[in-house]
Amino acid sequence: MLLANKQVAIIGGGPGGLTLARLLQQQGVNVKVYERDADQYVRQQGATLDLHYESGLRALAEAGLMEEFRENFRPGAERVAITDNNAVVHYTEHDNAPIEDLDNIHARPEIDRGPLRDLLIASLNDKTVVWDSKFTELKANGEGWDLCFANGTTAYADLVIASDGANTKVRKYITDIERIYSGVTIVEGNVYNAAVNAPDMWQLTHGGKIFAHWKGKTIVLSAKGEGSLSFYTITEEADDFVKKSGIDFTDRKQVLAWFKERFSDWSDDWYEIFSSDESYFVARPQYHFPLDQSWKSLPNLTMIGDAAHQTPPSGDGVNQAMLDAVELYEAFCKDHFDTIQEAVTAFENKMLARAVIATEEASQLMEAMLSENSLQFMLDFFNDLEMR
Ligand SMILES: Cc1cc2nc3c(=O)[nH]c(=O)nc-3n(C[C@H](O)[C@H](O)[C@H](O)COP(=O)(O)OP(=O)(O)OC[C@H]3O[C@@H](n4cnc5c(N)ncnc54)[C@H](O)[C@@H]3O)c2cc1C
Repeated sequence: MLLANKQVAIIGGGPGGLTLARLLQQQGVNVKVYERDADQYVRQQGATLDLHYESGLRALAEAGLMEEFRENFRPGAERVAITDNNAVVHYTEHDNAPIEDLDNIHARPEIDRGPLRDLLIASLNDKTVVWDSKFTELKANGEGWDLCFANGTTAYADLVIASDGANTKVRKYITDIERIYSGVTIVEGNVYNAAVNAPDMWQLTHGGKIFAHWKGKTIVLSAKGEGSLSFYTITEEADDFVKKSGIDFTDRKQVLAWFKERFSDWSDDWYEIFSSDESYFVARPQYHFPLDQSWKSLPNLTMIGDAAHQTPPSGDGVNQAMLDAVELYEAFCKDHFDTIQEAVTAFENKMLARAVIATEEASQLMEAMLSENSLQFMLDFFNDLEMR
């Protein structure tokens, strides 16, 4: 086996990195995951995620974790309703029966990000995840690398895999290809105990999702299992919007003032999601990479997930990251390459070809959401899906 007697380091304990750690560990590989969070519970994990049959669910099946998934997914949370700017419903799945059959290739069961992360961590050997390890620097050491962390510790690895997400600090050791601003910034928010703190919007979700569209602006609401309402706005903004606007996105009142102005043609029903102090907000400019990105593969360093190929929001990023994990594991442990570099090259070629399609699809979706007739586009899209 290519990775026998090798020390493998995965940087970043998101869905991509943790899935890969599990898959490699099942084959007896020595693997550590270095994660910047101080511990498993320090950070509230964001939105709910729909896992797709051919990617996210395939990864969990390969990892032997379908039983754990069944215990933690949220039947019914996948049901969507589409509204306009006045919160008037034009399409709804809220009365449909909840998903039961996970073998249906069209099933897109939802799981909250926290429980997904927890079940992946629980599947790993003790101390696989090294918490409080904010990666800062790689230094070549023989055929491998010394990894340096912000807390002053270091670690050696023969092979390093970056899965440190959209703001990766490892990618630059592989390529200097820069990301491109997509034209869109999302403002993500979370209202805790939403049945009390945002009761009307909570009710509107019916335990599922709301996609609200009007003339190029979007709000997505998702009910989470622990009672939070997770949401994000999607609007076209300049690349320096976050800095230039001067808005302190940790200040709820400033975020509400921005919303009232930017969404001035929306009804005040939506103000509720900005009205409780039991909430948080964060602005996230959205990027993608050039479609023709490629680089010369290295023998001891590669990357997966958003670090390699983030796209504008399309509801597929976690699925792509988990599929990367499966395909990299297969290249190392199943495909019989002679060297690690050959395995990495084959994996990266496959991943980049897939990323072209994912980026194109996400960009088209984004363009439609930013268009004047975004509501009609989404209604046609969902009605077409229902006819299949
Ligand atoms: C609001 C929102 C909603 C979304 N909804 C969906 C959805 O419904 N479906 C979907 O498929 N995708 C969705 N996505 C996209 C999805 O979240 C990402 O594509 C996915 O999480 C990428 O997985 P990853 O493992 O590559 O990176 P991440 O999930 O970003 O994980 C990276 C990990 O690395 C750690 N890290 C970062 N820097 C360092 C460092 N220097 N040192 C050590 N550790 C570090 C982070 O703490 C984190 O744990 C959404 C994204 C957002 C923002």
